[in-house]
Amino acid sequence: MQSGWRPQNGHIEVVCGSMFSGKTEELIRRLRRAQIAKQKVVVFKPKIDNRFHKEKIVSHSNQEIHSIVIKDADEIIQHSVFAQVIGIDEAQFFDNNLIEIVQNLADCGKRVIIAGLDMDYRGIPFEPMPQLLAIAEDISKMHAICMRCGAQANYTYRMTSSKERVVVGAGEVYEARCRHCYEAPDEKDDMKIKDKNSES
Ligand SMILES: [Zn+2]
Repeated sequence: MQSGWRPQNGHIEVVCGSMFSGKTEELIRRLRRAQIAKQKVVVFKPKIDNRFHKEKIVSHSNQEIHSIVIKDADEIIQHSVFAQVIGIDEAQFFDNNLIEIVQNLADCGKRVIIAGLDMDYRGIPFEPMPQLLAIAEDISKMHAICMRCGAQANYTYRMTSSKERVVVGAGEVYEARCRHCYEAPDEKDDMKIKDKNSES
């Protein structure tokens, strides 16, 4: 271990928010600063996300950093033995196993920085993010700009009618929206039913 690195350095940071809120950009910024300080950094992302580049984390603004693509959160442990700083992107795609793993890493003195969507397209908390937010020492909630009205956006609105929780895509599939402009999918369905009833 690098001199000056102590077990009490261990902690968990979570960067959360909707799509287009700059989560990945913020994750990369923190990891880069650690690299500049010559700290040993390792970065992970789940296999589900194949957009842009396979072995890099790339933000929408084209910032990038090398990452290890893993299928399961368990793989983080074996790759993190010598790391001082551990970055995890798209954490909402890992299972709840991730919670115990990051707790253990932080207990071992490692700084763990996690980025992820806090809610899915229905506006429902996206596990394991709620649990990670609860155990983190430091939380940053990022915001996008509502693509309808320009207000601060907290929601990810999906423009397709798919009911699957995970549909990978960016600008062509999703929009950031504020509370006022966001409609939950069920509400949209209800509106259609109402429209039909009023027609008859
Ligand atoms: Zn709006």
